[in-house]
Amino acid sequence: MHLSDRSYRLEESATLKMARLGRELAAKGHKVINLSLGEPDFDTPSHIKQAAVRALDAGFTKYTPVAGIPELRKAIAEKLQRENGLDWTAENIVVSTGAKQSLANVALAMLNEGDEVLILGPYWVSYSEIVKLADATPVVLTASVEQDFKVTAAQIAAAITPKTRMVWYSSPCNPTGAVFNYEELEAIANVVAQHEGVYIVADEIYEYINYTDKHVSIGAFAQVKDRVITVNGFAKGFAMTGWRLGYIGAADWIAKACEKIQGQVTSGANSFAQKAAVVALTSSLEPTFEMREAFRHRRELVLKGLSEIEGFKCNMPEGAFYVFPDISYYFGKKYGEYTINNSDDFSMFLLGEAYVSSVGGSSFGDDNCFRLSYAASNEELLEAVERIKTAVAKLV
Ligand code: PMP
Ligand code: GLU
Repeated sequence: MHLSDRSYRLEESATLKMARLGRELAAKGHKVINLSLGEPDFDTPSHIKQAAVRALDAGFTKYTPVAGIPELRKAIAEKLQRENGLDWTAENIVVSTGAKQSLANVALAMLNEGDEVLILGPYWVSYSEIVKLADATPVVLTASVEQDFKVTAAQIAAAITPKTRMVWYSSPCNPTGAVFNYEELEAIANVVAQHEGVYIVADEIYEYINYTDKHVSIGAFAQVKDRVITVNGFAKGFAMTGWRLGYIGAADWIAKACEKIQGQVTSGANSFAQKAAVVALTSSLEPTFEMREAFRHRRELVLKGLSEIEGFKCNMPEGAFYVFPDISYYFGKKYGEYTINNSDDFSMFLLGEAYVSSVGGSSFGDDNCFRLSYAASNEELLEAVERIKTAVAKLV
């Protein structure tokens, strides 16, 4: 058995792993509540599904251009202009098989061995691994719950070295729900602007799940606009995780390099999904905002429940559908075969003892915390909180 060094270097995706473990327990007959995998529990809005059906019926089932069908690239460029203040045209857009692939394209297109990528933590699990896949080095900057999980421009300024090539972040943030505001992003843009050759990857996939109603795109700041790669997708805002559709908006030379890489790996994204995506972008966002309001309600529900549990320290997530409580209070405590020394121990304890699947914070760059997705029904969430409360009360 001989695998590549790269394959050994890479960690299994912690989100997918915990979802798998939860499914395995459920298959054995346990009533598992799955709050590990972050995906909307809603179905894709029907007008979007109908558009895919129409495309299939019309025989739109062939290969598409690698960077996406022209009408989708145009619709995305118009969306980015209209809603985000980004000055891109269709040539600046590359459509991919999920935002995950968009991120991988960017990393493979822009990074060399020895390059450093500043990852603003807590961060989404796959950032560090995608950077490693491109043979570059992730450098994680962290912000604790006391700092509302937001790395500052000053931290970035202090961390930039001649090897720094990129800064990666998500806002709204997976896993913390933190949302960078205008002033915070302006300050980050000002720092990056002073360092020629440093680029920004702004992952805005949770853009529409923002309870502040003020989404800011760093690509709209003139001082960095040509150096920002804006990543977005359809999975979260339109409940289309399984459709596998994401995109970037970036300077044309970056878009072309991503297209070249994608052309050798997967080609164009799913044909009829792209047709449906045009409809998603050009129709009313009302169904999206209805989902957001449901998430907002669940956020209150979960936060209220968790705040009543001893030792849980939560921030107020302003977007996405996760809570990321600091549970370091439980470190050193035991119950039966379980000893809690870190966030993964805590998450495994909840799975084994409460049949609630979550994800330890270590994979997100903060071992004091763990992540719960609240993209689940109110009943499941209330039940999960009760189970967690009962389980942690056993820890001494
Ligand atoms: N970025 C973030 C922050 C995410 O949470 C996700 C969802 N896993 C992705 C990117 C990837 O999204 P997609 O499903 O479109 O690949
Ligand atoms: N965004 C989701 C999560 O963070 C999907 C799983 C994944 O792709 O990692 O759980």
